[in-house]
Amino acid sequence: MKRVSRRGVLAATAASGAAIGAKIANAASFGNPDQPPQGAVNATNKQGLTIPGPHDEGLASTMPTFLDPPPTDVGSMPEFWASFNLAQRRIQDGGWGRQVTQADFAISSEISGVDMRLSAGGIRELHWHQQAEWAIMTYGNCRVTVLDAQGRPYVADVTEGDLWYFPAGMPHSLQGLGPDGAQFVLAFDNGVSSEFNTLPATDWMAHTPPEVLAKNFGVPAEAFKNIPLQNRWIFQGKVPPPLDEVRTAMASKAGVPEYPFTFSLSNAPKVSDGNGGFVQIADSTNFKVAKSVAAGLVTIRPGALRTMHWHPNADEWQYYLKGTGRMTVFNAGPAANTANFHPGDIGYVKKGLGHYIENTGSDDLVMLAVFRAPRYEEVSFSNWLAHSPPEMVAATFNLDPEVVARFPKNSPDVVPE
Ligand code: MN
Ligand code: MN
Repeated sequence: MKRVSRRGVLAATAASGAAIGAKIANAASFGNPDQPPQGAVNATNKQGLTIPGPHDEGLASTMPTFLDPPPTDVGSMPEFWASFNLAQRRIQDGGWGRQVTQADFAISSEISGVDMRLSAGGIRELHWHQQAEWAIMTYGNCRVTVLDAQGRPYVADVTEGDLWYFPAGMPHSLQGLGPDGAQFVLAFDNGVSSEFNTLPATDWMAHTPPEVLAKNFGVPAEAFKNIPLQNRWIFQGKVPPPLDEVRTAMASKAGVPEYPFTFSLSNAPKVSDGNGGFVQIADSTNFKVAKSVAAGLVTIRPGALRTMHWHPNADEWQYYLKGTGRMTVFNAGPAANTANFHPGDIGYVKKGLGHYIENTGSDDLVMLAVFRAPRYEEVSFSNWLAHSPPEMVAATFNLDPEVVARFPKNSPDVVPE
């Protein structure tokens, strides 16, 4: 209390001495804590709020919290907002891809993201890479194939809300199905990973001496004379035969993998399902193969709040699927920065930093939280305070003990407006 009072006096002194004599609104008060005060509410001369110089109205208006941060925002931190909407598409016959890696988004050290579209029959060619690939289907239908480390093949068809996970080094392919192909978002468990720099089967074939190919595959070298000399990445193929037919054709004596490489996240149980929304979780406890990536699909109703929390075990890579919202990230310093999110946007919260997400629109906000970790873990701010010594909490925050007693004890992840 003493500190707040002193700040209030300082602010009043500063204001009375200023050339513009209007009082500074609520400086160093609840909801407006900083000294010197920050935020538009503290501008006594509104000229100081305008942007008369060059700017792009359309682009700027999508980020109201950058233009007009809440007065509780303070300090700075590395940019935690990015967007597939602003990433150039690489378009080929059969589909396209665009990505946001650490090269574009410095904070994103643990995860890099790719947004990809395949037409019906469009093929992301047979390839592999050194990092694991986790994905969520956002549209349409797709067929995935993978071979595990015991030589057991796996093929499955996935649809909107489904996931796949390919462990690091496991060879795989993707193909869009009818009627309109697929769109999906990939998360690699390494921020520097590039979708445009994988190990394609075509490149290896083209860069192996023909006599070695002949020995390796047990057919005459001549049989390879028409192989592509460059990799294909994405190319247009025919819509494939029915799943059962392909599964039979791919079968191995080694059998089938112990656990599926695909998972229906949209059908996973709803955790803390309440009026405000719910969370659905896929990690190595229910999606057994996903040993390096855990995820939560969060649905937040209009006006509702994904409550204040942090994650103790990994950075959070976010992908926004539907609706609009704002997130504030809190760090030591103090630093608190707020950004707005729209469909196709990406957010990133470093391990252990506090954050909330509020639905600011009139439709459901659906976002995905992806972690480079085997388990989904979080710490809830209200749950922590509800399970701390009540008198300590009351004394720390100058709260009435009656108020502390009302803090939710099994706090839901999403609370209504
Ligand atoms: Mn891949
Ligand atoms: Mn979170």
